[in-house]
Amino acid sequence: MRNPHFKDVKKIINKGKSPDSWYTGLYGLSPYIACEHGCLYCDGRAERYRIEGDFEKDIVVKGNTIDLLKKVLPKLREYGTIALSSGISDSYQPLEKDLEITREALKLIRDIKYPVTLLTKSTLIKRDIDIFKEMKEYANIHVHFTLTTLDENISSIFEPNAPSVSERLEAIKLLKSNEIGVGISAMPYLPYITETKDNIVDLLDKLKEIDVDFLVPMVLALRPGRLKELYFKVIAKNYPHLLKKYEDLYSNNTEYGGPRYNNYNLYKNIREYMDTIGLAQRLPLKYYRTQLNNYHTIELLLDHMMTLYRNKNIDISRLKEANQNYMSWLNNERSYIARRRNMNFDELDSKLDSMLRNDEFGEIIKNKKLSHFMREIIIDGADYDYCTLKLK
Ligand code: SF4
Repeated sequence: MRNPHFKDVKKIINKGKSPDSWYTGLYGLSPYIACEHGCLYCDGRAERYRIEGDFEKDIVVKGNTIDLLKKVLPKLREYGTIALSSGISDSYQPLEKDLEITREALKLIRDIKYPVTLLTKSTLIKRDIDIFKEMKEYANIHVHFTLTTLDENISSIFEPNAPSVSERLEAIKLLKSNEIGVGISAMPYLPYITETKDNIVDLLDKLKEIDVDFLVPMVLALRPGRLKELYFKVIAKNYPHLLKKYEDLYSNNTEYGGPRYNNYNLYKNIREYMDTIGLAQRLPLKYYRTQLNNYHTIELLLDHMMTLYRNKNIDISRLKEANQNYMSWLNNERSYIARRRNMNFDELDSKLDSMLRNDEFGEIIKNKKLSHFMREIIIDGADYDYCTLKLK
C-alpha cells in the first residue's frame, strides 16, 4: 500500500554549470523522491540519499512543485533542456497517474518554450505525447528509457513494479512514431546476468529494429550498506550459484560501489557492434543542437567527441587541449553575463557566431582545424555521425 508524504520544498529547479553529458539537462527538476517501481538495484536506496521509510511506498511528493514552477520558470535567463528525472525517483511512477504533477510541469515548460528530457521506465509517458508534440514546434524532443534486457523474467525479478519489457518496447515504438527521439539508458547491466554478450547483442538488435537513436551502457554499482545487502539477498535467493562471484566482484567497498574489475573486452566489442549497426553511443547532435544555446552545443559536442575518440583508442590530447581552452573562455564569458542582469545569454551566441565566421574562434581554442569543423556544424548546419565520426 503506497504512503505518499506531501512536503513543501524551497527550491524546485537546480541549474548546472554545463549540460549533462548523458541527458543534456542544463536544469534538473524532480517532483518526487523515492520510487514505487522498486528496482532492487536502485542507487536511490543507498544511505547517502537519506531517504527514510520504505523506498517503494513512502514516496515524498513535492507538493508545491507547480506553484514554485510558476514563479521560477518565467525568470530563467539561460535557454537549455530541463531534465525531469533523477537517479532516485521516476517522474512517471504510478502515483503520477493520479497526481499529474509531471504533466502540469510539462505544460508550464511548454508555455515558456523550453525543451525537456525525461528518464523513465514507465509507459505512463505515453499520456503526455500531446505535449511533446507541441514542444517539437520549437525543439527536437527526446526521452530516455531504461532497458537492459529483453528477458521478462530477469526484469520481473529486479524491477518488480515497473512495466514489462514488452510494454516498454511498445511505448518506445509509439514515441518514435510521433517523431520523438528515444535513447536507452542501459543501466545497470547486471554482472553474469544481463552483462553478457548474447543478452546485449539481442537487446541492441531489437532496439535498432525499432529505430532507437542511441544507447548508453553502464555496469552495476552497489554502494556499501543497505543497497548492497538487499541486492545480495536477491542474488542468494534467485541466483545462489553467483553469490560467491558477486562477493568477490564487489569486495572493494568503494564509496560509489563500482566492481573490482570491468569487462573491458565485452564493452569494446559492444561499441564496435553499435558502430556497425549505426546505433550512437551518445545523444545525437541533431537533438541537442535545438535544445541548447550554440555555446553549450559546442561544449557538449567536444565532450562527446572526447568520449567517442577515447572509445576507439584515438589520441585525444589535441582535442583535450582545445576543450580546456574553450571551457576557460566560456566560463569567463558566462560568469560575466551572469553578473549583469541587463545582459542576455543570447548575446554570447551572437559573439560566438561572429568569432566562428572570422576565425577568431580558432585563436581561442588554439586549433584551426577544429575551429573550421565547428564552423561547419554551427554556421553551415552540418551534422556529425557519432558512429563514423564524420560530418554529414
Ligand atoms: S525506476 Fe529508477 S528511480 Fe525508480 S526504482 Fe527503478 S531505478 Fe530507482
